[in-house]
Amino acid sequence: MIQMGSFLKIKGNKEIMKTNMKTIGLIGGMSWESSIEYYRIINESAKLKLGGLHSAKCVMYSVDFAEIEVLQHQGKWNEAGEMLARAAKNVESGGADFVVLCTNTMHKVADEIQSSIKIPLLHIADATAQRVKDAGIKRIGLLGTRFTMEEEFYKGRLTQRYGLDVRIPDACEREIVHRVIYEELVLGKILQRSKEQYMDIIEQMAGQGVEGVILGCTEIGLLIHKHDSQIPLFDTTRIHAEAAVEFALK
Ligand code: GLU
Repeated sequence: MIQMGSFLKIKGNKEIMKTNMKTIGLIGGMSWESSIEYYRIINESAKLKLGGLHSAKCVMYSVDFAEIEVLQHQGKWNEAGEMLARAAKNVESGGADFVVLCTNTMHKVADEIQSSIKIPLLHIADATAQRVKDAGIKRIGLLGTRFTMEEEFYKGRLTQRYGLDVRIPDACEREIVHRVIYEELVLGKILQRSKEQYMDIIEQMAGQGVEGVILGCTEIGLLIHKHDSQIPLFDTTRIHAEAAVEFALK
């Protein structure tokens, strides 16, 4: 537990710590299955750091994922960006001190979101890259949606800003990873067969010299856990949520 802030006396002379905690602005709903995890990890982490009845100060704007998913698959990223920029403005006017976009894929429009608000956006790839580097890992595998695995907005950031050597599975495996996300995980379906397919893909990547794997989709942590792999897994939901609490308490 960390000691921070001053003590506040409340009714019955009970003392609680008055923290200088910032308010976290969550843009969720992509999907809500993983937004729940963000909310849980953020509050667990705040409790662990501050103790007692402390929890995190948050506001959340949760979108309708069906609208976002259509725009993604039609390649209408500008429209999706505008939608999320509006969500970001809403959390800003709701009192958020910074924004956490609860999805990897939609960081494709992170610049558009950032330019529409005055508060900072805590980028999921930055938090993740930092953890990977702290673990002393350079050659890292990446699993996520096709957009995240194949496009530069995510991989490029890991490579150019952090010097990581990012490897992705082959085309056929990427298709499996992508399909399982959109047809199962975002719908809350956790299937053993898909878990085994993911485990096989991770094992193959390990065989090719990858030292760890980024679970670069916020729902993959619902399917695959630490003990399912012999090499370290970096769950972006947990990493991003914990980074949000650290930033809120800084
Ligand atoms: N939550 C997922 C991600 O982290 C996929 C859903 C989406 O496309 O936003 O990329």
